[in-house]
This record gives sequence, structure tokens and C-alpha cells, in this order.
Amino acid sequence: MLEKNLDKVLRTTKKHLSKLELLGVKTVKDFLLYFPRDYNDTSEFKKIIEISTVETNTIKGKLTNLFNISTKYGKKITRGIFTDSTGSIEVVWFNQPHLVRMLPRGKDIILSGKAKYSMGKLALQSPAYEMIHREEEQIHSGRIVPTYHETEGISSKWLREKLKPLIDYWTDLFEEYLPKEIIEEHGFLNYKTAIKNIHFPENDKMLLRAKDRLSFDELFILQLKVLQKKWHWQHTTKDYLTKISPKLKILNDCIKNLPFELTSAQKRVLDEILEDLQKPFPMSRLIQGDVGSGKTIVAALSALNTVKNGYQVALMAPTEILAKQHYQTFVKILAEYGLNIQFIAGSTTKKQKEEVIRQMETGTVDIMIGTHALIQEGIGFRNLGLAIIDEQHRFGVKQREILKNFGSPHLLSMTATPIPRTLAITIYGDQDLSIIDEMPKGRQETVTRVVPETKRIEAYRWIEDQIKKGRQAFIICPLIDESDILEVKSVMQEYAFLKEHIFPTLNLGLLHGKLKQEEKDQIMQNFKDNKINILVSTSVIEVGIDIPNATIMMIEGAERFGLSQLHQFRGRVGRGEHKSYCFLFTNTLSEEGKLRMKSMEMYTSGFKLAEIDLKLRGPGEVYGIRQSGIPDLKMASLTDSKTIEKARKSASEIINKDPLLKNHPLLAEKITEITEIFVND
Ligand code: ADP
Ligand code: MG
Repeated sequence: MLEKNLDKVLRTTKKHLSKLELLGVKTVKDFLLYFPRDYNDTSEFKKIIEISTVETNTIKGKLTNLFNISTKYGKKITRGIFTDSTGSIEVVWFNQPHLVRMLPRGKDIILSGKAKYSMGKLALQSPAYEMIHREEEQIHSGRIVPTYHETEGISSKWLREKLKPLIDYWTDLFEEYLPKEIIEEHGFLNYKTAIKNIHFPENDKMLLRAKDRLSFDELFILQLKVLQKKWHWQHTTKDYLTKISPKLKILNDCIKNLPFELTSAQKRVLDEILEDLQKPFPMSRLIQGDVGSGKTIVAALSALNTVKNGYQVALMAPTEILAKQHYQTFVKILAEYGLNIQFIAGSTTKKQKEEVIRQMETGTVDIMIGTHALIQEGIGFRNLGLAIIDEQHRFGVKQREILKNFGSPHLLSMTATPIPRTLAITIYGDQDLSIIDEMPKGRQETVTRVVPETKRIEAYRWIEDQIKKGRQAFIICPLIDESDILEVKSVMQEYAFLKEHIFPTLNLGLLHGKLKQEEKDQIMQNFKDNKINILVSTSVIEVGIDIPNATIMMIEGAERFGLSQLHQFRGRVGRGEHKSYCFLFTNTLSEEGKLRMKSMEMYTSGFKLAEIDLKLRGPGEVYGIRQSGIPDLKMASLTDSKTIEKARKSASEIINKDPLLKNHPLLAEKITEITEIFVND
């Protein structure tokens, strides 16, 4: 019934119906679930004697002496006198002469609006009005009044009028789908009552309770979905995956031979992984660690342990140069343990590829490192035990899913995109989280400064000086939203300008998104080999690459980037022995912009910056709703950690007992209603 098309039950024009459709409202159900954006509380009536000029006054009284006058400029003014038991006040409306016919005289009516002095007298200016028929029917004033996202022709007032009768009639058809225990545990309103009260709250308290219930619902359904997904991942084991036990002797030996000591965060995360590998079902774990926190070595040790248990390991990175870098690291660190480590990517020749593929299938290869060439068709493993995905946010979920075809190995993902925990368990909720929240000892902090335009030339000379001392620099050009082409054009101009006028004696490189992957890789390689002194780039600058000799990161139009992205850029430098610098150039700054730039100067932790960014701009802006797949929630907030934790707890209790939701058919149906929410889907 609730699925009925709106035109069957709502008296209105085609035009209005198509406008509603633009708002995503087609059926009765959609309409009733079109929740208010905000509320005005006009439930307290004021007396005329209490009218103030600072806030909206909502008054119950009687109108008298209502008449129209025309000004000499042709404007129509409607004037009247409004009276209650405490006094009278003048009321004026502009250009609404029909009010004279519409509004009743001498009968109770509610006016709600601001008062202003006009010609020395206090007057109510263009107040909203509502006739009183029966006490309970007031919907525009004298109560907590809902306001909605509006569109042309669909005002909040219109919505209230159309919604009210439908709500009274149809809401009872909404079926309760939350299990009784959950409602009782949290003292929630039932679903119907929550829907009624979210539109037309009985009072403050009921409004709060309705919000609590409906925000919980959204987050809870999301959690059910991710936790069920996790359950599926864990229960598609092939028989061959048996316990991978910690080979402590070899691991400790390898750790001892590293040129540095592991941080305690690295040790803790490695332990978490070793623990998971012993379980009889596939791990699904995400390592979050700031740029430079040393995720790779943790991955290498996990790989070593897996191979020593007789399994193969695959490591996939988003770009060839990054994959190559990992390959070199693995070969170096694991040199003594007699492993066969191979590399595969776009540039691998056909003959080499065939050989490697053969070795993968016969099980001769122990560790296979590469780009997504690794999971292309026609490739198989003999006994893949662990798949590692670096910079996982760069891969789609589909690619992760493909790994299942390789025998459902343990899965270890890594990301340097710092996301606060509450958000992470919502969008990466199907994975367990390990956090490396500690930087290696002795790492120097990158000095970050906002540089005023007047110091630009000085900054260029200083950079040149550093380069003559052997260092290297990045210059990032502003983000241009309108189009990639404009962005490429602007970075090319900047590059030409710098080359000709600012650094004529230095080697400059140019990097942008319209280059082919191989071209980008070649340029990055040249930069890595110090054949390029300064790399001028758009924001495509590759993630994860280790160029210890680069010490300067100069960012143009810094205010256009989010804090997390600025932090990622900054993470490209400060990786070696030399002191590093990040220079931010900005255009005019809003207050928020100033705060964000200040935060860059003050904080070095990616998590801290992500939190600030979230507070200032909200998750939609920070992570981009569509790009990141973060769901567009109606009631809930992704920063509401209390409700998120509650929802997580209740959802895991259910999934633990009834993973396929066989005993909860209504919930099972509900989770099919939300679209995929995972990153990069
Ligand atoms: P990310 O977490 O960004 O992937 P990497 O794994 O690339 O970071 O490590 C960055 C650099 O830090 C590498 O050069 C690596 O050798 C070094 N490194 C890793 N762990 C430590 C440590 N515990 N102490 C000192 N240096 C470390
Ligand atoms: Mg990395």
C-alpha cells in the first residue's frame, strides 16, 4: 500500500508531482520518509505586550480593521490591527492584497513574524499566518514546525500541508522492523511514532526521541550490511587454507636484521595479523597508518610468515612505480630466506609474463608483486594464502572481490588515508582495523608555513639554493574543479613559466592526469633518480612513493585542497635524513580557510587533521559522497560516534547469532534497500 504512487493519493498538479520526483519522492512511502531538514519552535505563544524586535514572535489574537492601500509607486500594502488580551499592534504585509479577502476578522488566528519600528511605531512585518480551525490541526505555527529541503514550487509550507493528512492516515501502515529486544534495550520509539514525530513532533522530547530512533536505524542497517559482508568473506574458505602459525624464529631474525627498530605500533599491528592468520577463516584487515608510518615492513613480515607456512603471497599496488618500489624493498629485506619473489605489471613483456604466470600456477613463485595485472584474467595461483593490497582506496571493491576467485586468501589492505574510527567502522566496517599511530623514531617533522605573496620570489630563490645543495622539490598546482583539461592547461602554463623565468638553469619535470601511466611512471623514475630537480604536478602526484632526497613541497592554491590531501602531499617529503619544508601559497582565505591553513602549520598527525576537516566541512565535503561511496544519510551523522557505536554493537549481536538474517526477514529486506556503500564502488 505504501508503495502506491503519490498521484493516487495526493491532490495536486502534474507539475508538483514531477518536482517531487526530482526530490526522490515517487510513492507514498517516499513522501512520508522525506524527513525535515530543521525545525522552528513556535510552540510558545507570546503576548502582544512581550513582542520583541530580536526574535520571531508567534502570537494568537484577532485581526480587525484590515484594508489595502496603494503607495504612489504602485505598491500594495495591507494594514491591520492585531489584538490580544494584553494589547494591540499594527500588522503590515506587502503586495498581498488578497489577504484582505482571505483573513478572517474578529476570529482567533495565529501570526508569526518579526516586529520592526516603522514610522515610530512597532509593527509586525509580513508575518506568517495560520487560521485556527480546531486546536490540533495547527501545522505552521504554535508548535514545533518542520522545515524541509525545498525546491522551486515546493515550499515547506506546501509540504506541511500535503504531508499532514497523509501522515495521519498512512503512517500506521509502516511495519516495525527492529527486533523487540533492541527497541527495549535502547528505549526507542516504535517506527510509526518516530515517523509521526519527526514531521510533527508532539513536543521537544518526542522530537529528540524520534531523531534518536531514526538515526540509529540508518546506522544500524549500514552496520548489518557491512557485518554480513564480513561474515560472507569469512565463510567462503576453501579447504586448503589451514592454520598459518607464527614462525617466530625466522620473524625475529628478520626483524633483528632490519636497519632500524620497529615501532611499538608496528609490532602491535604485526601481532594482530599473526593472530588472525591462525584462525580457520580468512582475515580481512585494514592497516591505517599515516604516510611514512612504515606499513610496508609490516606487510613484508606477514608475507614472510605466510610463505614459511607453505603458501603463496600476492601484493598489489595501484601503480607500477609503487609496485616496483615494493618489489625492491621485499627483495632486499627478505634476501636471506631463499624466497622466489617476482614482479608483474603493464610493462612486463609477454614472454616474461608467460613465464611468471606459469610459475604462479605451479607454485614456484612465493611472493608475487605487481599492479592489477596480478589479478587479470587467465592468471591463477597454486595456493594463495595471503593477498596484500596497498593504498586500498585506489582499488575498487570489485577488484578486492576478484581475489576470492584465487581461493579466498587472507586479505590485508593498507591505506594512508586517515579516517576517524567512527567513520572507518561505517565505511570499512567489513574489515577489522589495525592502526599504526606512531612514527618511526628520529623522523624530523616537516616545517610547514603559509607563505605570503610578497615572499614568493624569496621562496623561489631559497628553493633554488636548496637544489644547488642537492635536494629536490615538488610544486603542486591548484585544483581546478571545472575540468581536467583546464587543470592540465594551467599546470602546463605554470611549468613553462617556471622553466623560463624562475628556474632556467634547473631540470624541471611535468606531471598531470592526462599522461599515460607509463609516462607518469617514467617521470617519477627520473625524479627518483634525481634527473629532475623540481617536479611540477597537479594533484595526481603519486601516492606512497619514497623519494628521501625530496625535501620541499610547495603547494599553490592550497586552500582549494582538503586537509587530508594537503597532508598527503606533505607526506611526500620528510622521508630522509634532511630537514624538509612544506610551503603553502593561498589566495584570499575565508575564516574557515584560515583555520585550515593554521591547522596545517600546527599539526603533523593525519588523523588529527582529518578530524578537524570533518568538523569544519563534514564528511560529504571531505571524502566526497559519491567518490568515496559514503552513504548520503538522511538523519544520522557520520560524526555521531555514540550512535555509531550503539548501532555497531546491536548489529554484531544479531549477525553473530543469525548471519543470514533468516530469523529477521524484515531486516534482511531492509538491507537490500540500501545501495552499496563501500569505498570506490
Ligand atoms: P608507508 O606507511 O607510508 O607505506 P613506508 O612503509 O613506505 O611508509 O615507510 C617509509 C619509510 O620509513 C621507509 O623508508 C621505511 O624503510 C622506513 N621505516 C619503516 N619503519 C621504520 C622504523 N621502525 N624506523 C625507521 N624507519 C622506518
Ligand atoms: Mg606505503
